[in-house]
Amino acid sequence: MTLSLDPRSTVSRRGFLFGLGSVGVLAGTAFAGRLALTARGTNAAVVMQPDQAAPFTFLSTGSVAQAGAFSLHLHSYYADSAIATFNGWQFPLVADGAYLVAIIGAGQPVDSEIELDPGSYSVHVDASSSGLGQYGYDLPMTVTPTAFPVDAIDLPPSLNNLLAPDVVAQELAQLRETYGPASTPPLWHGLLIQPIQGEITTQFGQARSYNGGPVTGHHSGVDIAAPLATPVPVAAPGQVAFAGPLAERGNFVAVGHGLGMYTGYAHLSAIKVNLGDAVNTGDIIGLVGTTGLSTGPHLHWECAVSGIHVDALRWTREVLP
Ligand SMILES: [Zn+2]
Repeated sequence: MTLSLDPRSTVSRRGFLFGLGSVGVLAGTAFAGRLALTARGTNAAVVMQPDQAAPFTFLSTGSVAQAGAFSLHLHSYYADSAIATFNGWQFPLVADGAYLVAIIGAGQPVDSEIELDPGSYSVHVDASSSGLGQYGYDLPMTVTPTAFPVDAIDLPPSLNNLLAPDVVAQELAQLRETYGPASTPPLWHGLLIQPIQGEITTQFGQARSYNGGPVTGHHSGVDIAAPLATPVPVAAPGQVAFAGPLAERGNFVAVGHGLGMYTGYAHLSAIKVNLGDAVNTGDIIGLVGTTGLSTGPHLHWECAVSGIHVDALRWTREVLP
């Protein structure tokens, strides 16, 4: 039997319901495990808790690297609503097909630029259903280290004012508002496309030291060098959540893809979309530029899930949810 996690597949949905109704919770849970492995096509560990109050739950992995992300699925048979808490961060689950789903980021909050420490964590789920009432349970999660090199940058004096605390605070407040929690189902399925090709000049999470000063934070995206005015396509279907100038990001476009997942495109020389526009993969949202806190033409491409920055490039290789 070929199974797919794609909620558009009616075959797999019937499969779930058959598994639950005919052979009970334990068989249903094992069924989910096989399903997750098939869908990811990897040897990823699947964590399940068959001894709980019957939540039909799985995580896409039991081990995530710093700057990565993972998904949590809870079958809607067991919950009408749920919220996951990881490292004190909250990720609302959103209905998608037969499941409530959350994508959980193991990166840096948009307003702190400090990476999550490696170590042992748990994902706490608070769920509620008309049949089971309120219940909660924990799933183990290990965060493994990612090497983040330090990047020394010499800024021309004309850009130094962009590092002023009030300028930084204002931009982070805007990002917190733009990169909100999950509230809608996913508008995308499968891999993101890398918007443009070119030399990667700064990786996600690279620590930054400006003008010989101390390390001040971790890079919230990936920098891809490209000639001025190169068209920038959007990485996945979605809706424009921000389009306008910011102090550091310069001309900036953010696109919401549902499930609290956003991609952002910074330092543009021109913006080609408006707030609220629906966009499809490949639509041009702007042109490469060097506006804001930038020392040459490049695209700063970032990704956030429910307010946590994660490495966008990983999503071009790994399918979530
Ligand atoms: Zn950047």
